[in-house]
Amino acid sequence: MSVSRQQADWLAPLIADCRPHGARRWDIPGIHAAIARVNQRQLVEVIRAFTRGAEDRTAHTPSVVVTNPTYWREPALEQLATRAQYCRTHSTALKAGVCPSCRADQIGADGPATTARPSRGLPRDQVAAIVGELRDHAHHTPETQ
Ligand SMILES: [Zn+2]
Repeated sequence: MSVSRQQADWLAPLIADCRPHGARRWDIPGIHAAIARVNQRQLVEVIRAFTRGAEDRTAHTPSVVVTNPTYWREPALEQLATRAQYCRTHSTALKAGVCPSCRADQIGADGPATTARPSRGLPRDQVAAIVGELRDHAHHTPETQ
């Protein structure tokens, strides 16, 4: 069964509501237009792909669901287990279980420019470079609230 206009009318607001808190909103006409491009596919496939896409905060528009095959594949169990986790404070993706923004805050609070930390053995300029990189990353993450 393909997707009827009426089914798309029902689906679009639900998919819009699936966007995670703090993620860029998807407007209903945009979702409608994206569904129209794949309306010959099975209804169940379309629902799965769009809910998967809506759950992905890096998917800024509903049209990426149409073009990205990732959303149309059934995820393997191991992929579900390792799905990216997000910081509750910054909404940024965790890197190896650590939020880059929290880490930048922590290093900043420790004052790497004024405090010598001989036990860690990292040269001061290297620490400053890491802090700068993390701050830069935090500033360029579009999903921050
Ligand atoms: Zn954080």
